[in-house]
Amino acid sequence: MAGIFPVDVGPQYEGEVIRKGDMYVEFGGPEVKSKFELVTLKSPDEVENEKIEVVGPNIADMKEGASYPMALMIDVAGAGLEKDMEPVLERRIHLYTNYIEGLYHMNQRQDMWLRLNKDSFAKGLNSLEEIGKILMFLYTSEIDIIEKISMTFITDEKKVEELLTEAMKIYNERDEKARGLKEEDVEEFYSCALCQSFAPTHICAITPERIANCGAINWFDGKAAYKLDPEGPIQEVKKGEPIDPIRGEYTGANQLAAEKSMGAYTRVYLHSAFEYPHTSCGCFQAIWFYIPEVDAFGIVHRDFAGETVVGTRFSTMAADTSGGRQVEGFLGLALEYLRSPKFLQADGGIKRLVWAPKEIKEMYKDVIPEDLYDKIATEEDVKNVDELVEFLDRVGHPWVKGEVELPV
Ligand code: SF4
Repeated sequence: MAGIFPVDVGPQYEGEVIRKGDMYVEFGGPEVKSKFELVTLKSPDEVENEKIEVVGPNIADMKEGASYPMALMIDVAGAGLEKDMEPVLERRIHLYTNYIEGLYHMNQRQDMWLRLNKDSFAKGLNSLEEIGKILMFLYTSEIDIIEKISMTFITDEKKVEELLTEAMKIYNERDEKARGLKEEDVEEFYSCALCQSFAPTHICAITPERIANCGAINWFDGKAAYKLDPEGPIQEVKKGEPIDPIRGEYTGANQLAAEKSMGAYTRVYLHSAFEYPHTSCGCFQAIWFYIPEVDAFGIVHRDFAGETVVGTRFSTMAADTSGGRQVEGFLGLALEYLRSPKFLQADGGIKRLVWAPKEIKEMYKDVIPEDLYDKIATEEDVKNVDELVEFLDRVGHPWVKGEVELPV
């Protein structure tokens, strides 16, 4: 497709990773506090078709090798589009940006991360308008019910920060919609294979009580995605029979795992970190990790830059957890999954949590039992596992005292 655009475009570029040394600039990612991406369905008269607006510095004004804030806001209109399809169209940002030669996209929502390499910059991919034109072409050629589309790239830090608050409200409303529905209430789960370009044996199983690892696709989103594009990366999966409802083992999910991992694994426990845990791609929001010295778990999210209680940082732990493998004791997951009544229920769930960054504890205070809250250590309480053992004994953490019963 080079000719129409300054660089080539196609699925062959999915999985292309851009190392720091090859990067021209990046938007979002771990170095940047304010970033997000959002797709909004509007009425046709609210969308000026094919308009691309840039608010703040453009690529040509940027310093080579630097990181910048980014809000990528896409408005769409079309008679066949539904509000429920917004998150699905938003997740397509990941797919389509990765189709572009020399552009690399990771994560989602308020964690988005976009990198442009030096070669593609030199070839002429040197403005956000150029990127926008390619994205619009992909959106409208792949999803024909989009009748109008416009894009706004905001790189002005203050503006991104202001708009992020509103975006967070929208993400939360989407997540809230899925709370309450149970696995027992449905006959279908959904699967997503979008991350197979980076993690070839990974497949996300999305149930009403287990949002996808990236946190961007819940069960309702899966349903909307399948309706939008039945041949697309999100597929409907028959739940089948429950083999072990506590661990979350279903015949349908096992069959899916066997097929999509090309036989690499044949069983999956949706609600346990042991034996046959769900695979982890690379887009997960957090890692749930086993701490053998206390036979319990810690959690660390992508934004936590410090060392965890076991002495490793998120980035190091992510490299060991990701890639589409089943790694016992290590799970890449969405933070919203903490709100699920089935959250790793077979292992003791949140009652087995002994360490978390202070930010996570505060954000999820409402899901942590009141009598447990002060017994979960943070980076401010302990610096290593020895201190953790001493802390847990001192506060009398119920898991360490043997007071937590596992479901049978
Ligand atoms: S993390 Fe899962 S649901 Fe999210 S894009 Fe990747 S495969 Fe799809």
